[in-house]
Amino acid sequence: SRREGFSVIPNVKWEDVGGLDPLRHEFERYIIRRIKNPKDYMGFGVDLETGFLLYGPPGCGKTLIAKAVANEAGANFIHIKGPEVLNKYVDQSELNIWTIFNRARTCSPCIVFFDEMDSLTTERGKEGNEPVERIVTQLLTELDGGEERKGVYVIGATNRPNVMDKALLRPGRLGRLLYVPLPTPDQRVLILKALARKKPIDSSVDLVSIGRDNTCKRFSGADLSSLMNEAAMLALEDTLATIDTGWCDTSSTIKELHFKRALKKIS
Ligand code: ATP
Repeated sequence: SRREGFSVIPNVKWEDVGGLDPLRHEFERYIIRRIKNPKDYMGFGVDLETGFLLYGPPGCGKTLIAKAVANEAGANFIHIKGPEVLNKYVDQSELNIWTIFNRARTCSPCIVFFDEMDSLTTERGKEGNEPVERIVTQLLTELDGGEERKGVYVIGATNRPNVMDKALLRPGRLGRLLYVPLPTPDQRVLILKALARKKPIDSSVDLVSIGRDNTCKRFSGADLSSLMNEAAMLALEDTLATIDTGWCDTSSTIKELHFKRALKKIS
């Protein structure tokens, strides 16, 4: 979307996220409840992290969960794509780190989400890396300014945590590292069910056996989303063909055979 760099409250709900309950629990404690009931946290003298790094294979829900957290907390969400910041920064355009955090402060509570964060944070001290270095330095300054950052939470996402500057991952910065794994067979079922919420799935379709099936082995959430979409396309094709031949359309739902054909096509 073209809202990059601007704040909005995302429309992703927890029900849209499948199979990531431990992360949900973590974010409920660390972000959502803190925003909704700050009083519950007073008086214990605990310094709770405000910076998080989600890491793991692509397409497993890092962006999705960050948006759901913002939605659940009723917080604004600023989506920053790592490579774009770098380009715009090099172009001397406005989107630099200070601008981003300043914007976040003025619309707090706010979650700043850095996608593909590794592109911003390749280890310093290598030649030809000056723009990245400047960005990391600015980022460290902002992350360390905890007190002035009240109500601003930072979530980074990466597939390659190992190339990131270790200075960013210290406590008080992006101090909580959270792994977002490839789904297990049962988590695949939960993801399919979450994706099915917005689709006219025929009641005869058995999402449990589809999700557990070996053909979906090593599928990410994004793969399951493509599967769902492909099945919906095939169902749509069938419905259009029925209309064209003049048959009256009895049920325009996504059926088992559409999933079977979609699976063949995808795998
Ligand atoms: P990348 O590392 O490539 O940025 P990501 O981990 O941020 O990937 P998302 O962008 O959150 O992945 O996921 C892509 C799409 O895949 C989502 O929009 C959603 O349709 C689907 N998806 C992924 N994971 C899940 C999940 N756990 N539950 C439901 N849908 C999911």
